[in-house]
Amino acid sequence: MVNAEPFRSPPAPLAGEGGRGRAAEPPGLPRPLGLLAELTHRCPLGCPYCSNPLALEGRDAELDSATWARVFREAAALGVLQVHLSGGEPAARHDLIEIARAAREAGLYVNLVTSGIGLTGERIRALAEAGVDHVQLSIQDSEADSADRIAGYRGAFRRKTALAAEIVRLGLPLTVNAVVHRANIDRIAAMVELAAALGAGRVEIAHVQYYGWALRNRAALMPTREQVERAAATVAALRARYRRQIVIDSVVPDYHARFPKPCLGGWGRRSLNVTPAGRVLPCHAAEVIPGLEFWSVRDHPLAEIWEHSPAFRAFRGTAWMQEPCARCPRREQDFGGCRCQAFLLTGDAAATDPVCHLSPRHHEIAALAAAQADRPYRYRRMPASAGA
Ligand code: SF4
Ligand code: SF4
Repeated sequence: MVNAEPFRSPPAPLAGEGGRGRAAEPPGLPRPLGLLAELTHRCPLGCPYCSNPLALEGRDAELDSATWARVFREAAALGVLQVHLSGGEPAARHDLIEIARAAREAGLYVNLVTSGIGLTGERIRALAEAGVDHVQLSIQDSEADSADRIAGYRGAFRRKTALAAEIVRLGLPLTVNAVVHRANIDRIAAMVELAAALGAGRVEIAHVQYYGWALRNRAALMPTREQVERAAATVAALRARYRRQIVIDSVVPDYHARFPKPCLGGWGRRSLNVTPAGRVLPCHAAEVIPGLEFWSVRDHPLAEIWEHSPAFRAFRGTAWMQEPCARCPRREQDFGGCRCQAFLLTGDAAATDPVCHLSPRHHEIAALAAAQADRPYRYRRMPASAGA
């Protein structure tokens, strides 16, 4: 379950917080806090906002559970506190329970990021016993028909709400990820109400970020400026109304912001992303940047990748920056924004993220934010030949 989830910011502190103990950080190279483990690209849903790459990795390419267990041990030794078991849909892995247990045994705080499809009550109980600490469950809307249409899967809404009840009954902390775009942004209040009624402790109003399949569907998903402004006012009112009941996380969506977000807390500073086949990326979209060399956990220990992999070194720190970032007082705050977005929108991965109003290309973002088109979604589907 990807997109608009917690991976554009440093690994989100989750309910119950942190890992299971971490030594002080040495000077020099920072240590990562979070690992996004993309266990598979397989997923029964077809969300048009999915940020998975267009070229999905098939079942045959996936790392086995023993390799994941080694990766988790290496991650913990490197200082990682939290692992996010994600995908695709992690429940598509028949060995998910074994993988979750291995993450817990490595000493990591285990967050399961799921669409909920493929998780029965029995399976979620087994996952809780295996050591899952927290569940992030996505919803596509507050209304069943619309939610199922967006997910491209009939009956998804009903199954998700039933699973949420079971998660809460087991005492597992639950975050609801409400992924918003033009079709549902006017129902943010109803989605927060739903999350609260389901017993979630937190709801993330996650605006679509335009990578992978979402980029392909950008004009069909893009909210209008008026919708975004209304949504901001709605969220402020909801925070006041629900302040004792549920935490509401929300940030201004990229294309409507003045400053970019500090993508993952800075390239190669706080997190690692391991693809289903084992390539280690500084962020889940990094493969869009041509010429970067990604090392695999099949060939290198994680610590070596973190320190020496050309992809991690490419945009670490600030030495690679051009103007206006190079002399900007915010350069250590937002690190020039997102490298993948800079490349996708300007063709230059070292450019200032054009989301920034100081970028000479910022006017292009404004034009894209104003470009809505009511065309059918192009659903994210995996070819049957890839073992979907
Ligand atoms: S299709 Fe939907 S549920 Fe599946 S990985 Fe993509 S965003 Fe997540
Ligand atoms: S110019 Fe660069 S460093 Fe300064 S605010 Fe914009 S993106 Fe951030």
